[in-house]
Amino acid sequence: MSGHLAVVGLGPGDARWLTPEAQSALDAADALYGYGPYLDRVPARPGQGRHPSDNREEMSRAGAALAQAAQGARVAIVSGGDPGVFAMAAAICEAIETGPPSWRALDVTIVPGITAMLAVAARAGAPLGHDFCALSLSDNLKSWELIERRLDAVAGAGLVIALYNPVSRARPWQLASALDRLRRHLPDATPVIFGRAVGRTDESITVTTLDAADALAADMATLIIVGSRATRVIPRPGRPLVYTPRAATEASA
Ligand code: SAH
Repeated sequence: MSGHLAVVGLGPGDARWLTPEAQSALDAADALYGYGPYLDRVPARPGQGRHPSDNREEMSRAGAALAQAAQGARVAIVSGGDPGVFAMAAAICEAIETGPPSWRALDVTIVPGITAMLAVAARAGAPLGHDFCALSLSDNLKSWELIERRLDAVAGAGLVIALYNPVSRARPWQLASALDRLRRHLPDATPVIFGRAVGRTDESITVTTLDAADALAADMATLIIVGSRATRVIPRPGRPLVYTPRAATEASA
């Protein structure tokens, strides 16, 4: 059995952010699996099977990709950004752990990609220049109480916070509630960056402050970076530079 599964990160959108390794893995695949809009970013190749699926179908997609690889095919399953960040690589591991023993013998490669947080940070300056964390605001797979506890802990610890999955049609109120929670810990003037569709033609970047941050400004394609007490804004013509200095003092944390 020579089946192979590559879990491939496509980056946030800009074709120049697709790594050469990811491109090779896509080129070598007999079949591609992924969430429809991500798969749409990969040009069709004659002879290569395409299996788009819906957003919420990660486990059945993972199972189908593994089953085809187990039959000897070279399969690639794609994620936006990095496949290990709130994406398919963990779903594949979950499926392997609970699936048939033959899946453990498969040759599985995780091909990293640029995650949205890094692309948004690069556009804004260097907000992740000191300690930071990433949280998904989706309460599909964890409780809202747990998310609130984590927001309290990380804002209190002086970490810059990258918020993935801020809103969806089924989750309209979570971002406003999370911002309110963070206002308990952080000053009004804390810099907040909204990065939307970064690397795509409809990209937008907004730099604001925690007191003025408007949850309605975010959609499913938005990543939000909330600064720490140490995060600074350098005004300049056009968009300001936002950065977190490399050194921390007790007073700034
Ligand atoms: N694996 C992906 C994240 C999947 S979760 C990665 O590493 O980037 C989906 C969330 O990622 C979205 O709700 C949004 O918060 C963020 N995201 C993905 N692509 C983005 C982009 N081009 N610009 C801004 N945020 C993006």
